[in-house]
Order: sequence, then C-alpha cells, then structure tokens
Amino acid sequence: MSLPLQQLSRLDNFGHSMTTAAYLYRPTHAAQVAELFEIASKQGTSITFRGAGRSYGDAALNAGHVVVDIRRMNRILAWNPETGIITCEPGVTIEQLWKHVLEDGWWPPVVPGTMFPTLGGVLGVNIHGKNNWKKGTLGEQVLKFSALLPSGEEITCTPDDDLFYAIISGLGMLGMITQITMQMKRIYSGNVWVDAWVEANLEGMLAAIETHKERDYDVGWIDCTAGGSRLGRGQMHAADYLTPGEDPSPAQTLRVDYQILPDLMFGVLPKSMIHLFMQPFMNNAGVWLINSAKYFMNSTLGNHKRHLQSHVAFNFLLDYVPNWEKAYGAGGLIQYQCFIPKETALDAFREIIRLGQKHRLPNYLGVLKRHRPDKFLITHAVDGFSFAQDYRVTRKNQAGLQKLTTELDQVVLEAGGKFYFAKDSTLTREKVQRYLGEARIAKFRTLKAQCDPAGVLESDLFRRCFAAE
Ligand SMILES: Cc1cc2nc3c(=O)[nH]c(=O)nc-3n(C[C@H](O)[C@H](O)[C@H](O)COP(=O)(O)OP(=O)(O)OC[C@H]3O[C@@H](n4cnc5c(N)ncnc54)[C@H](O)[C@@H]3O)c2cc1C
Repeated sequence: MSLPLQQLSRLDNFGHSMTTAAYLYRPTHAAQVAELFEIASKQGTSITFRGAGRSYGDAALNAGHVVVDIRRMNRILAWNPETGIITCEPGVTIEQLWKHVLEDGWWPPVVPGTMFPTLGGVLGVNIHGKNNWKKGTLGEQVLKFSALLPSGEEITCTPDDDLFYAIISGLGMLGMITQITMQMKRIYSGNVWVDAWVEANLEGMLAAIETHKERDYDVGWIDCTAGGSRLGRGQMHAADYLTPGEDPSPAQTLRVDYQILPDLMFGVLPKSMIHLFMQPFMNNAGVWLINSAKYFMNSTLGNHKRHLQSHVAFNFLLDYVPNWEKAYGAGGLIQYQCFIPKETALDAFREIIRLGQKHRLPNYLGVLKRHRPDKFLITHAVDGFSFAQDYRVTRKNQAGLQKLTTELDQVVLEAGGKFYFAKDSTLTREKVQRYLGEARIAKFRTLKAQCDPAGVLESDLFRRCFAAE
C-alpha cells in the first residue's frame, strides 16, 4: 500500500471561507487506516479525519497533507429496539441514525441543527443540541466506543476511562473513533409540542431561556440588527416530547416519510433554488429588513401559539434550505459561537451585539442556547448561555472582521467565557491557552504523546491553536 499522494483534492470548510488542497483517502475499513498510520509516520506526512466537513472552521482541513474521509465506514452494526441501544461505524450520519431508529419509537437524544454530520465528526467535537441544559452533550449518551490509535493500538473506552473524555472532544487528534455504542431516547410520537413567542430585548430573551430550561428543548433567535431598548430582541422556541397516549396516531407520525421535509416551499418553489432568492438580501440593509419583518410577523401572527411540529422540522430547520450557506456569496461566512457563564452573559452579549453594530458588521443569524458544564477535556460548555453568530465574509470586510473578532474575544475572555472548535476559525494559541487553561492543555499534550507518539495526527486547526511554537 502507498499513500494516495498523486492527486490533490480541493476541500473547504462548511462556510466556504477557507479552501485548501489535501490528499484525500476514503477507507472502508479501519484496517486500511492502521496501514495509513504506519506509512504516514515513516514518510513524515500528517493525517486529519473528516466526516461530512460540516465544521464551520478548519477542524477537518489539513493543507498539503492527508485527509481521511470516513464516510464509507457507515455501517449500522447492531440495533436493539427493546433497549434503544445502537452500535455504528463513525461514518453513519445523524440522518441515517434517526431514520434507523424512529419507526421503533426512538430518537437520537442529542442532535445538532443539521442532520448531515457523521457520528465520528460530531463526537470529535462533542456536539450539543437545543437540549444541552437537560441532556448534556452527545458524548454523554455514549456507552462505549472503540478507537484506533496511531501507535497501532486498538482500544475500547467507557465512561470509566480517562481517554473516553479526551478522545470524544479531542478533534480527531488522539485517534480515530471506529465504533460507537449509544443510547437512544424513547419517544411516543413523531411530533413535539412547540411554543413560540417574542421577547422585546436581550434581558427578556435570557430570562425566558432560564425560565424554560427544564423544558425538553429551548432555543432563541436574536435579531442582531435592532439597537437601543430593543437590542437583543428575538423569538424563543421551547418544545416538549409528547407523553405516552398523547398522540392519537403515533404509528403515522413515527414513520420516516411523515418526517421528510417537503421538496417545495409554499407548494411551488423548489427548495434547491431558495438560496438564490436569499442572495440579494445578504447585506446589512437586506438582513435588517428581513429581521425586522420576521420580528414583526412573529410578534403579531403566531405569538404565544402552541403547535405540533415533527422532530425533523423542529431540530433540523436549517436543512429546509439546501446550500443556504451559498447565499453568503463567494467569500462565504464564519460562525462565532461563544459560551458565557450566566452571571456575566447579559453584559457580554450586549457588548458583542453593540460591537458588531459599531463596526457595521452585524451578525446575520444569532442563536441563543442554555448550557451546563461537562467532563470532557476540550469542553466548550459552561453553566450559562451560548450565542452563535454568522458573519458574512467578503474581500472588503476581511480586515474589519478580524478586528471585530479580536475585540469579541476580549469580551468573551473577560467574561470568563469559552469557545467551540466546531465553529471557530479565528482563535490564536494564546487565547486558547487562556480559555482552556494550562492544566487542560498540558493534559491534552500528554495524552496526545501517549496515543500518537510520532505526531501523525494534525489538522489546520491543531497547528493554529495547539501546536508548540
Ligand atoms: C448548519 C449547521 C448547524 C450546526 N448545529 C450545531 C449544533 O446545534 N450544535 C453543535 O454542537 N454543532 C453544530 N454544528 C457543528 C457540527 O455539528 C460539527 O461541526 C460537527 O463536527 C460536524 O460533523 P462532521 O461529520 O461534518 O465532522 P467534520 O467537520 O468533518 O469533523 C469534525 C471533527 O471531527 C474529527 N473527526 C471526524 N471523524 C472522526 C473520527 N472517526 N474519530 C475522531 N475524530 C473524528 C475531525 O478530525 C474534526 O476535528 C452545526 C453545523 C452546521 C453546518
């Protein structure tokens, strides 16, 4: 076997703001990756794992080196509809997962805002859902996993092992997760009850999330173009699972085809074309107009209304519009998600919105969630709130955006906050050191030296944020 070093492939991040060329390798079995580790360490080439490439930054990029695309390792190995325990290969997607378990009355207990990521990829960063306060991260639903280390060792980890908390969240830098056993959540309907209402400002939004944090899900959308007393206004969604017997026809709502998102919007417009219609509005004036109209509509029609929505429609709203990220244009977008303790969140988020407005770079989509701390090594969680913000990147605004994110970082760090590598594309080593702390980084380095003594696993993100000078 030789390394696939003949042809470079173009790979980018989800936001299409970074493009690199790498040697792409698509194994179907872990044994092929074991061989690859050996050859790479002899040849001095580094390896990064890549799932669906849905991280907003450079977590799954490795310019000039090898990228292992795990998506052909996508077999579901065991499923027990009595206990809800499933064992999968890492290339299985969230979409494959829910489609496999739904009709037996189960649902993945933690999902991201899109169903396209792989299990390897979501455990590599340890994702959270709109139920982080209640359910924790996806890593907390894992009963055990197997991993292949660059040292050649194959290990199995359970929540009793130290490495469990480092490989999950470890950004693929300690080894490749090869098999995952997880607990699914029992559900009694294909729908959830959803309550939607508007809040007039940021204080109201944070208070609402706090009040509703014991609901099964809660999430807020923020209009970051509004200022003054309306700064941080937005719409809240809180949702609950249905209880046994509450759904008059669970056999129907628990069917996969009941959940499938429609191909047409308003019954006529193909969804695949919607991003083209969004494009003319992807500028400050357009986003102000859309956000104001959305807020006005939400506060008049449908305010404080309770309705039923399918799990897919509630959890994967963004998947309604295929390729929506392309509406941001050639420069793409970056996402900036920070996690701030509840005590300092209000002032910090206010300052973050104000800074964006001051620099004339308001974020185009702002999302608020409630979080709880977890035991994982490269954790992003706090007992507080996260605020995810999408910023358009253009050739003209790049320097301004860099300046803005530097100022935002300062606000986050002073508020005792954290960042998230699934989203980040601008942090520096010094800032990572400040928010994770020296002890955590030293532990990560020690475990990396044990699992990957030749230093075969590297990514663009690792070099940017963790590598020694
Ligand atoms: C529209 C959208 C909505 C999102 N919503 C959320 C959300 O609500 N909550 C949230 O937490 N995240 C969210 N995300 C982020 C997303 O869930 C993560 O970036 C996730 O990692 C993407 O999975 P992927 O398969 O694309 O992984 P990639 O982006 O390809 O890889 C992610 C990391 O996992 C590592 N990796 C891949 N496979 C393995 C393996 N087998 N073993 C070890 N490491 C591996 C990679 O090296 C990389 O470091 C969202 C992303 C998008 C685009």
